[in-house]
Amino acid sequence: MRAPEIFRTPSFRIAGISAAVFVLGVLVLFAFVYWQTASRETRTVDGFLERQVRILAGSHPNELIRALVLGGDQSERHIAYAALFDGHGRAIAGNLAALPAQFPVDGVAHGATVSGERQVRAAAARLPDGQILFIARDVAELEQLQGIVRRALLLGVIPALVLALGAGALLSWRELRRVRMVHRAVARILLGHLKERLPARNAADDFDRLAMAVNRMLDEIERLLEEIRGVGDNIAHDLRTPLTRVRARLERSREATRGAAELDAAIDAAIAGLDQTLGIVTALLRIAEIETGNRHAAFSDIDLARMVHDVAELYGPIAENAGIELTVAADEPRFVKGDRDLLMEAVANVLDNALKFAPCESRIDLAVIDGPEGPIVRVRDRGPGIPPEERQQVLKRFYRGDKSRTLPGSGLGLGVVNAVMALHRFRIAIGDAQPGCVFDLICTRLAD
Ligand code: ADP
Repeated sequence: MRAPEIFRTPSFRIAGISAAVFVLGVLVLFAFVYWQTASRETRTVDGFLERQVRILAGSHPNELIRALVLGGDQSERHIAYAALFDGHGRAIAGNLAALPAQFPVDGVAHGATVSGERQVRAAAARLPDGQILFIARDVAELEQLQGIVRRALLLGVIPALVLALGAGALLSWRELRRVRMVHRAVARILLGHLKERLPARNAADDFDRLAMAVNRMLDEIERLLEEIRGVGDNIAHDLRTPLTRVRARLERSREATRGAAELDAAIDAAIAGLDQTLGIVTALLRIAEIETGNRHAAFSDIDLARMVHDVAELYGPIAENAGIELTVAADEPRFVKGDRDLLMEAVANVLDNALKFAPCESRIDLAVIDGPEGPIVRVRDRGPGIPPEERQQVLKRFYRGDKSRTLPGSGLGLGVVNAVMALHRFRIAIGDAQPGCVFDLICTRLAD
């Protein structure tokens, strides 16, 4: 049969073991005290008996007989038995009929049993005429001492044992109560109450620390779920607008019976709308791929200067078309460890934004400079700039500033840049160029 739950908790087990160790310790202590006292008492008695047997053996025969007739030294109540035996062990005088069997006659005290049952300490000496003098003393005090020790043990140990087990049961009950509370909280969380937390009292015990760690984990899970929910809402929202627009256009063109040119224009507009939705889906998949893929393995040494020149070459014609001057200042090679394609994509996205926001006839500067943490790829435009309070927001997915509502885009370009930077453990810093803004892609050196 299994013991009730309360007796199976670690607290109760620890209390039980402590109680057992305590009882053992007390038993050893009492045994030691008893042994010390008993041996001291025995030594005192033995010394007295050995002295007495010597004195009596040396006294005048008349004195001796008188002492024996009196039945030992009754006045002092020290000697309970005193007797004189002849050379063959026959009693001559005294209050003992026979000498205990094989009792050594050497003037030294020994333990013996007299009259068949009484435990005594005794000493015997041979007189010059061959007779044997025997004296003995009761050791009832030792028996009393034993009784005292036993009573003290019972009175001290049993209540302590009950107390220890009671405390163990109490601790155990409290522990079980907390475990049940945790079970209830977990059950509620499993039912979908994500705001629920495990009970913790801010105390410093292991249980509370564990509960607090789990609660922090739940906070993080809740935050991530909120974020996912937010992204989901954003996706739905951002896809709905272009899709609604495409649908409306298609419907309108079906209703209006016009020429082939107009139908072509409607189809083109529909394709552009679908391209925008595809762009959103592609960008989201790209961010997911960057964030979840194991691309560290493909990291190699990349010369940022060369990479920046390559990006500038790609975007040169676009800038020229928009009437924007694109300058590049990256002469010295600057190496970092990374994924070339991804870093190029990040720089291209930032440059793309600069081209989108820069006014006509303005200039965009692309440069690789040295910073305290490592090389920096800097993109500077002369557009409207980004207000300080928006600089963190623009890096989040789907965030679009008010000024860009009329411009094409989905709010995911900087999301991709952010994901690439995070993958490389690089940083983005956005500053003021007055006019315009400066995007610094800070390529901190990786400790290998
Ligand atoms: P999108 O450009 O598609 O809106 P991004 O993620 O690339 O999305 O940019 C997010 C927002 O950051 C933009 O809507 C805009 O408000 C702001 N932004 C980005 N680059 C610049 C820039 N060079 N100048 C001014 N604002 C910018």
